[in-house]
Amino acid sequence: MREIRFYNTLGRKVEPFTPREPGSVGLYTCGPTVYDHAHIGNLRTFVFEDFLRRSLLYLGYRVNHVMNLTDVDDKTIQRSNDAGVELDDYTAPYIESFFEDLDTLHVERAEHYPRATEHVPEMIEMIEHLLERGYAYERDGSVYFRIAADDDYGRLSGIDPSGGQRGERVASDEYEKEDARDFGLWKAAKEGEPSWDSPWGAGRPGWHIECSAMSMKYLGESFDIHCGGVDNMFPHHENEIAQSESATGEEFVHTWLHSEHLMVDGEKMSKSLGNQYTLKELMARGLDPRAVRYVFISSHYRQKLNFTFDSVDAAVSALERVDQMRFRLESAPESGEPSPEIAAAIERLGKDFAAALASDLNASGAMSAVFALVREVNKTIERDALGDGDRNRVIAVLADANRVLGVLDPADWQSSEESSSGLADNEIDQLLVERQEARKNRDFAAADRIRDQLQAEGVVIEDTPQGPRWRRG
Ligand code: AMP
Ligand code: ZN
Repeated sequence: MREIRFYNTLGRKVEPFTPREPGSVGLYTCGPTVYDHAHIGNLRTFVFEDFLRRSLLYLGYRVNHVMNLTDVDDKTIQRSNDAGVELDDYTAPYIESFFEDLDTLHVERAEHYPRATEHVPEMIEMIEHLLERGYAYERDGSVYFRIAADDDYGRLSGIDPSGGQRGERVASDEYEKEDARDFGLWKAAKEGEPSWDSPWGAGRPGWHIECSAMSMKYLGESFDIHCGGVDNMFPHHENEIAQSESATGEEFVHTWLHSEHLMVDGEKMSKSLGNQYTLKELMARGLDPRAVRYVFISSHYRQKLNFTFDSVDAAVSALERVDQMRFRLESAPESGEPSPEIAAAIERLGKDFAAALASDLNASGAMSAVFALVREVNKTIERDALGDGDRNRVIAVLADANRVLGVLDPADWQSSEESSSGLADNEIDQLLVERQEARKNRDFAAADRIRDQLQAEGVVIEDTPQGPRWRRG
């Protein structure tokens, strides 16, 4: 287990990370609000959280990762009402779509995906604690958090509540509150809205209490890391801290990590600019999901990510370099003592890769470490200096780095459709033999026809001194 340093939003500095239980991390990441398909901004955040999870595992920690599904809130209710559909029926296809997107981008599954609608009793219990302790009050069937009772409110975002700065999701029509800054924990049922029974009558939870109740249920009253995009910092996470710590008297979360937003062509994504893409839209344009994952993980999570189609093309080229190296490596002859250059490069990768991850998830540093190995292997193959066992050692170290990156092995990304539709391996071998025959007979037209046929099937041929080699592109 290796010591990690993270930039903790709470305190705003890079500091050593010390989980409560050595070697074991409780991680909560705010999940999607399932009123629509996720956009690629949301997915940048989810892929960052996957990178974090995989890095923790790689660096020797056990991880208990919880991501909630916000399947009841103002937006889901509004949209399901507009569509004239029950809330659960309305959200079901978007939950399915969310998991499809995770699969497309090879995001590993968390241990738990609790749904807000299935945890209302836990939320009610927490609100009762807050009422008992004087941190909340009831008005006309709704319950509000009393910000004036919470001395250190605002310490995550640095927002002074007396300044009256308000987030997007603070409702503006709650006149019955003691103080305009107070936020809703429980909202009395309105005509036509889904509701649950509670000690204050029928109603539904506020958005913030959902995450406090679900995180504590699966990770305990205090846990290690809480993540979200930067827009979650205020008011959502600030309110989570206020509720949770007021209810328990304990520190809620030690380390807060926030990922910066994804922009498209240098602009904020928005429906009106027509630059708000879903992953499915990108796939329909023929983009390679592996390259999209690469774009997401290769820049630092605290930097804004400018997504452009050129950046996806650049990712395709970068991955092609890794694939080419792997492909050459497969056919390069090995002989004699292991190459000392390869041994040194493997050792350097192991060290630099882990050091980069442990330094606040320095993704580009981790990538550079991989490309340093790629260059060294290419040079060694060119010098015909690969020693016995070098091939397997390189493949093994790449597989190890791939546990975090998830993009280094093209075989992982071959869709079942592709591999079942094209030619079988032995048919490709046979066609290559025929092509060689045609070339030997100087029938270049026939040889080219076979090459075109293979290319159309997505088979890439490389002529090497040992004869032609092929792979699926
Ligand atoms: P939501 O579905 O709105 O609850 O958001 C799900 C996650 O996506 C949250 O962690 C947000 O902070 C994050 N998010 C929203 N917009 C963006 C964006 N443009 N770029 C990156 N992350 C975002
Ligand atoms: Zn949340």
